[in-house]
Amino acid sequence: MNYTTRFAPSPTGPLHLGHAYSALLSFNRAKKKEGAFLLRIEDIDQSRARAGWEATIYEDLNWLGVSWVNPILRQSNNLKNYTKAISQLWNLGLLYKCDCSRRDITEAVQAPQEGYPLQGPDGVIYPGTCRNKHPRQGSVPPIANLRLDLKKALDWIDDPLYYEETGQAFGTVTIGNTQSINTIGDIVIARRDMGTSYHLSVVVDDAAQNITEVIRGEDLADATRIHVILQALLNLKTPVYHHHHLIRDATGKRLAKRDDARSIATYRVKGATPADIKVLIGL
Ligand code: GLU
Repeated sequence: MNYTTRFAPSPTGPLHLGHAYSALLSFNRAKKKEGAFLLRIEDIDQSRARAGWEATIYEDLNWLGVSWVNPILRQSNNLKNYTKAISQLWNLGLLYKCDCSRRDITEAVQAPQEGYPLQGPDGVIYPGTCRNKHPRQGSVPPIANLRLDLKKALDWIDDPLYYEETGQAFGTVTIGNTQSINTIGDIVIARRDMGTSYHLSVVVDDAAQNITEVIRGEDLADATRIHVILQALLNLKTPVYHHHHLIRDATGKRLAKRDDARSIATYRVKGATPADIKVLIGL
């Protein structure tokens, strides 16, 4: 298959130096491999996505000299595909409805008999309160938080899970069953306010766009374990993954969307050139 990679920003704030690094790394790699570089707008969180931020993404990328192969995939136009994948998982009996609030979860994990609250890729690991509370027959319950029963899912897969890492930690990364259960937990697959989730959407879209290599920050390496599990459940091909180091500020803190001073737009306004940005991010 032809080499294809992508950059998948969420239009919820300005792109900063870290995004520039990720986008340029992927763009340059696609060029070197004579492959395709695609753009995906990850705007499923409509409470935070803004058309203005999306416009800035295009401006910033154009200014940096990053160009992509059209069409752009906008996730908010793709909900049907996510619903289909959710039904698939539901029909396998692997999802359950969860009506815990954030507070319920915090209180449950702080009960003395539960021990120290463990952190997974999505924050506190879900203690399983609703796992056997609601029947799983019938069709997908509408407007509900749906979680993956991870133990059941891994039993269903019953195969060794792994992916190839092409980044700094080059090699084969195996995803052990027991370890996955203890360090990931029953993650949310569909959020009641979105009808989907980041993990589900990204896996469906990477497959639909025939992505052969996912290049993204090392902060998402933990999420990759979830994505490989979802690929196995949905019978989708696992791409190779490259998790790059994060661009940090002078104090060593990773850059955040609210960090306006390091936004590409701010550098642009201050008269920096794309070459200056490349020097700043070490490319
Ligand atoms: N939309 C995610 C972000 O902006 C990136 C997701 C990905 O690359 O898989 O952080």
